Amino acid sequence: MVETNGPQSNRGADEQSLRMISSEPIGNEPVSDEELRPRALEGFIGQPLLKAQLQLFLDAARKRDVPPDHILLAGPPGLGKTTLAMIVANELQVPIRVTSGPAIQHAGDLASILSSLDEGEVLFIDEIHRLPRPAEELLYIAMEDFRVDVMVGKGPGASSIPLTLPRFTVIGATTREGMLPSPLRARFGFTAHLDFYPHEELERLIERSAGVLGINLASGSARQLSLRSRGTPRIANRLLRRVRDWAIVHDLDEIGPDDVQAALELYQIDSEGLDRLDLAVLNAIVKNFDGGPVGLNNLSAMVGEESETVETVCEPYLVREGFLVRTPKGRVATEKAWQHLGLVPKDDVNKLF
Ligand code: ADP
Repeated sequence: MVETNGPQSNRGADEQSLRMISSEPIGNEPVSDEELRPRALEGFIGQPLLKAQLQLFLDAARKRDVPPDHILLAGPPGLGKTTLAMIVANELQVPIRVTSGPAIQHAGDLASILSSLDEGEVLFIDEIHRLPRPAEELLYIAMEDFRVDVMVGKGPGASSIPLTLPRFTVIGATTREGMLPSPLRARFGFTAHLDFYPHEELERLIERSAGVLGINLASGSARQLSLRSRGTPRIANRLLRRVRDWAIVHDLDEIGPDDVQAALELYQIDSEGLDRLDLAVLNAIVKNFDGGPVGLNNLSAMVGEESETVETVCEPYLVREGFLVRTPKGRVATEKAWQHLGLVPKDDVNKLF
């Protein structure tokens, strides 16, 4: 694998990394992410429909002996987009070049990456929705016509020289599919939407990771961990490592469900997998805004967090688990949220959405 430009985080993501259950990679942990990444589609846990579609797509390309169409992977952070990109390259036995939208500051940066690709190579662009507009336009043409126009000279005398590229495959990953302009979206022959994982799949994933890391989990412990992992493999793996720390410090040969509970309580992760920030968001809606509706900006200001973090990290899970509803007028806390906070819901709570 050639690392072209390390994916860069925005400020919101940096702050998320301070959270125990952030689904963003923590600065000092990507190496551990690497060791737990399955290398083949077979080892990729869950998402059965997506896997079957991708398998067919890759088999067809192999039979036709051409690089596959471009692939777009959409979904919240930590669900396996990077892992799938690596698996695709591995399955096709081609090299993969890794970059990200924010790492490409000028169209020229992208042109130089494109012009150095080899036949069949995979170009993985993480956070593709954050590419600058000129780079995006250059990418449309490259993806469709396998050509880049290289600018020579400056000012009125500048001219562009078309450069033919070998056939390659772009794999774009995005947490904000809606922010991708439709001409770019239209260039992808296959789009996969990754969704949060059900508990049973996370349980299998935790057992696999425990095997890789040599962690001895007693019966019921993987289940306990899966219930608190917010449907997200990266969080499941991270919690597993923290529980391992607990076991090391307490000299345990085997980690039981009670140890999992005690360790995660120490990290302030509650029985539903909600952490301090999630609870702060729910508390703010209920206590400061009387259950809502409240706009994203007001809410983020109240909890002292970037609105992007609240929107892309907290909310998808809170919405999915039925704690929060997004309405045209703003965010509303559900009856379940009031109850989870130990409060009696307002009478008209269900009329708010
Ligand atoms: P994303 O790119 O969507 O943010 P990653 O691909 O980096 O997420 O996945 C985060 C971590 O979770 C990696 O360590 C990876 O090994 C693990 N992981 C994600 N999805 C799966 C899966 N379906 N099966 C096994 N491990 C997974």
